Amino acid sequence: MAVAAMLWVAAAALLLFVAPAIVAAVEDAWRTGPRDVGFWTVARAVGGTCHVPWGRRGSPVVLFPLPDGEARLRAVRTPLRRGWTIEARAYQRRPFRFAARLCAPPSPPVRWRAPGLAPLELFPGEAEHVDASSLETTDERLLRWLLRHAETRRCLDGLLDETKAVNIEVLLGGGLVLVRASMRAGIPAGSAVEMAGPPLVAALRRLSTDLHDLADALDEAEGGPPGAVCPACWAELGEDPALCRTCGARSHRGCREMVGGCVSAACGAAPDAVPGGRREREVA
Ligand SMILES: [Zn+2]
Ligand SMILES: [Zn+2]
Repeated sequence: MAVAAMLWVAAAALLLFVAPAIVAAVEDAWRTGPRDVGFWTVARAVGGTCHVPWGRRGSPVVLFPLPDGEARLRAVRTPLRRGWTIEARAYQRRPFRFAARLCAPPSPPVRWRAPGLAPLELFPGEAEHVDASSLETTDERLLRWLLRHAETRRCLDGLLDETKAVNIEVLLGGGLVLVRASMRAGIPAGSAVEMAGPPLVAALRRLSTDLHDLADALDEAEGGPPGAVCPACWAELGEDPALCRTCGARSHRGCREMVGGCVSAACGAAPDAVPGGRREREVA
C-alpha cells in the first residue's frame, strides 16, 4: 500500500510541476519556432527560402538573393524588453569601404562601435537630410553620396512608420548592410516578421543596390584594397585586433561587437549563419 501511495504522490507531483513546464516550452517553440507561419509567408513574398535552424529558441532564417550578394532575415529577442527585433543583413560581394549608423528616432552612440564613427549632423535644408534620425559615419563624403539618392532617402524616412517599429537602426559595415526594427512587446515573432519584414527587405535592396554602385566607383577610382584594414569600417587595424576563431578574419573589437559577430557571409560565427549550411528544410 505504501508503495502505491508513493507512486500516486509522484504522479501528482509530475502533473503539478513538470507538465506545465513542458507545455510552456512546447508553446514557446510553437510560437517562435519553425512552425511560425510568418517566416514562410515573408520568404515567399521576397522570393527567398526559409531555413530552420536547430534548437527550439532559434529563429528561422529567410535567405534571399541580392544583385550583389545574399541577404538573411531573422527575429532576435530585443535585449531587456519582452519583444522581438526583426533584422535583415546583406552580405555584399564587394566592400563599399566605410561604416555608418542611422537611428530613428535619434539615439545616442552605442558603447561598442567602429573606432572612427563620429556623429554627423545634417540640417533640413541639406540635400542629404533624413527626417528624425541620428547619423554617425567614418566617412562623411561617402555617406553623403549615399543619402543624395532621393529613393534611398525616401525608403529610410518611411521605415519607422512602415514597419510600425519602436525604433529602427541601419548599420553599414564595410561590406555588410544591416537594417533592424525593434517591435513592441507582446507581438509574436511571426507577426513581427510579417509586419516589419517586407519594408526592411525593400530598404535593404535599395541600400544594397546603391552600395554596389559605390563599390564599383571606388574600385575604379582607388584600385584594389589596401593592406590590412578592418573589413567592417575599412580603417587600419590597430594593435590587438579581434581574431575570429571560426574563420580567422581580423577586425576591430568595437566593429565586431557593433555588428554582433563576424561580417563574413561564409563564416559560421556570423550571427545569422544557418547551422548545417544549406542542407536544412527549405520551401520555395
Ligand atoms: Zn573596424
Ligand atoms: Zn568569422
